[in-house]
This record gives sequence, C-alpha cells and structure tokens, in this order.
Amino acid sequence: MRILIKHGTIVTAVDQYRGDVLVEDDRITLIGERIDVEADRVVDATGKYVLPGGIDVHTHLDMPFGGTQSADDFETGTIAAAYGGTTSIIDFAIQYKGETLHHAWETWMRKADGKAVIDYGFHMIVTDLSDAVEDEMDALVDQGITLFKLFMAYPGVFMQDDATIFRALLRTGKNGGTICMHAENGGVIDVLVKRAPAEGKTAPKYHALTRPARAEAEATHRAIALAEMADVPIYIVHLSAAEALEMVTEARDRGLPAYAETCPQYLFLSYDHYEEPGFEGAKYVMSPPLRPKETQDRLWRGLAFNDLQAISTDHCPFCMKEQKELGHGDFSKIPNGAPGIETRMSLVYDGGVRTGRISLNRFVELTATSPAKIFGLFPRKGTIAPGSDADIVVFDPEKRLTLGVATLHMRVDYSPYEGREVVGVADTVLSRGRFVIDGGRFVGRAGTGSFIKRSPRSI
Ligand SMILES: [Zn+2]
Repeated sequence: MRILIKHGTIVTAVDQYRGDVLVEDDRITLIGERIDVEADRVVDATGKYVLPGGIDVHTHLDMPFGGTQSADDFETGTIAAAYGGTTSIIDFAIQYKGETLHHAWETWMRKADGKAVIDYGFHMIVTDLSDAVEDEMDALVDQGITLFKLFMAYPGVFMQDDATIFRALLRTGKNGGTICMHAENGGVIDVLVKRAPAEGKTAPKYHALTRPARAEAEATHRAIALAEMADVPIYIVHLSAAEALEMVTEARDRGLPAYAETCPQYLFLSYDHYEEPGFEGAKYVMSPPLRPKETQDRLWRGLAFNDLQAISTDHCPFCMKEQKELGHGDFSKIPNGAPGIETRMSLVYDGGVRTGRISLNRFVELTATSPAKIFGLFPRKGTIAPGSDADIVVFDPEKRLTLGVATLHMRVDYSPYEGREVVGVADTVLSRGRFVIDGGRFVGRAGTGSFIKRSPRSI
C-alpha cells in the first residue's frame, strides 16, 4: 500500500516547509519538494499542515475508580483520540496490593486487545513494592514498559512513603526506567477531606478547596529532592499549580533532570467552574483540581520556556449520570477525572498557537516529539522522517469546530468545554499507514492498534 500526501506544509519540532510525503506500508519512506510516483491513494493536503501524530502519554481507559469504571474503553477512547489527531497513547496499568506487575500488565493488555484503533503502550502504577516487585521492574523495562508511576496522594490506596519512593528511584538508576509521580501531599489532603463534612462542606467545590496548591508544590519539591538524592531523572505528571511549577523551574535551573507535563484542563479551565450552580461543579472534579485563572499564564510560560516538556490529557471520563452522581452530598465520593483525549490537539493549537503563546513547532514538540523522546518512542514516533512510523495527521488550521457532546466522540454525557469554538481540526489521520480518520470520518477498525514496546530511558 502506497499513500502519497501532496502539497501540504510539513511541520516537525524544528522544521516547516512545503513538500510531499510518501508512505509505503506502515512507514514513511520518502519526503521531497515534489514526489511524482504511482500511489494507491493520493491525499491532497493543500492549505493544511502535515504533522506527526499526537502522542498522549497519560490516559486512563477502562479504569476502575471508587466502585465504578472510566467511561471510555480502549475502543471508544482510541477512536476519540484518533478524531482529535492522536495516534499513540500510553495508558496506566495498575498493580493492586499483593499482585505482580506482570499480572497487572496482562490485565491491561486484555483490556486493549482487539479494541484499540491506534497504538498504545503502558506505564505501570506500583502500589506494592516488595523485593520481588523490584526485580520485576527490571524485567518490565526490558519488555518495553519503562515508566513506573508512584503516588504521594490517596493514603491507604495508592500512596507510598518516602522510603518506598526512594527505593523505586534508586532501582531506575540501575534498570533504565523512569519514575513518574502523582505529586500531592496525601496526608494533608486526607485530614482536610475528613474534616470537611462536619463543617458542612459537601459541595463539589470542596474537592478543590481541600487540595491546596501548596500540597502539590510540597510534594513536587519532595519528589524532585528524592530523585536528586537517588541521582536519577523524575517526571511529574499533570502539574497544575504555579507553586508546583516553581519547584520544577528551580530544579531545572540547578541542572537537575526534572521533567513535568501539564494538561489542557489546567490551561483552559479554572477554579471558577466549581462555583457553577447545583452539582455542575462535579464535571470538573479531578486531581489535582483546577486552579485560579491566573495560573494559566504561568503554565503557558512554563511550556514556552521548556520548564514543562509535554501536554498530556489525564483522560479519565466519568458520566454525570450514575457516576459523578455517586458524590451527591459528599464531594469525596465523586469519581476523579474528566474527558480530554479528543480535544487536546485542537485546544492547544487554537489556544496556544493561534494566540501566539507558543510557536507551531513548539506545538508539535509538546504534543508529539518531546513525549516521544522522554518515553522511548523517538524517532519511530513523534516526527515526520524517512523510516519513522507513518503516524500522520493532516491538520486543517482553518476548520472550525464547536466542542460539545454533540460533536465529540468520547463516551461521556458532558464536555467540560461545551460550546467552546476552536479553530484547527484534524482532517485525516494515519496510524502506521492505515487510514483511521479520512476527511473527518472514522474509517478505522477495532484491534488494529498494537502494543508499543518502548526503549529504556535516553534522557
Ligand atoms: Zn492520571
């Protein structure tokens, strides 16, 4: 199968030029100013950008949480991702207490098998770090699962003490893995959450008010300090607070390999949403919570100056009906998470590139190239180059889309961006040379996505 993409503007993290791209089977084989060869299919990309497929390194499909399950499975979630211009995701497998890491991996492989329409990898959430599990970490790195997530929040469920975190960090110094951290001080938050009902604080907004920005900053600082003492890199997931960003910036200014991602919800939404009437604030219950609006400028500056290296989604949708509703009268029972896998590229292009906050190249870098490099996918994925996987998005920078339940494809009954118009939409999407979205229509097939075996750390 030969696909020729003609007359587009090819954009990578460093380049921008007019040219044609030839795809043969699952890879890019030729790029030139003008390519005239026979092809099975010619895609006219006049007036459009030809981008590397987006890489979302933080998703939770088909994930159990508080007695319910995130609403998208690997089929609906990856279809929505593809509509949005994302061609690779990295999801999180969860080791529960007493289980092996391999058991968790197999469980999540089964969830994805036969369902995913784009490629997928896994990070491993470690909740029980015995000596045997430490040995297993080495094996997993060899098998392509190179990143281990630990929690400083959710005591009794996921939270690890400093000694455990430090042991895991030390181990990655030997095996080439990386630790990523959910950085919030779970002890402090737990006290605040438990005291809230007696003080009459039960509405959704108290989810945010019991998770102070300083709790995120403190944990971010501690995580980086532990990594510094272990002499290894660290990656902070879903950074939301300006106070936490200061900790990352300070560490990077000292030359430490501290990395962090943020998510569109922290760039485009703010605390004010929790004040919406009735139970509406539940739509935005996620951890860390949305922050004051002023934070957004700080995060954009962090993205522009490379104190933040990636934009992921933390896609973890729960419907209002029957799921978020579980927390009626008790905010601590509202499942944590929101949908975002489909809207990332358009939101960041519209709100980042079109407003001049970041360059077009930086947009590609933050949504594809840099995550590919940090997570061992580059140069197979994350760029447009001969030999790379043909994960390609033909992106229409002028097309308008009104975001909302009626126009989006995630399996959830609300959108946190309902009614917001964005300019810039994925038009045609290839995943390893297969059409998944063709002129805005889904043409993929469940089960065609493959597990991505990732390389050990090169950062
Ligand atoms: Zn998450």
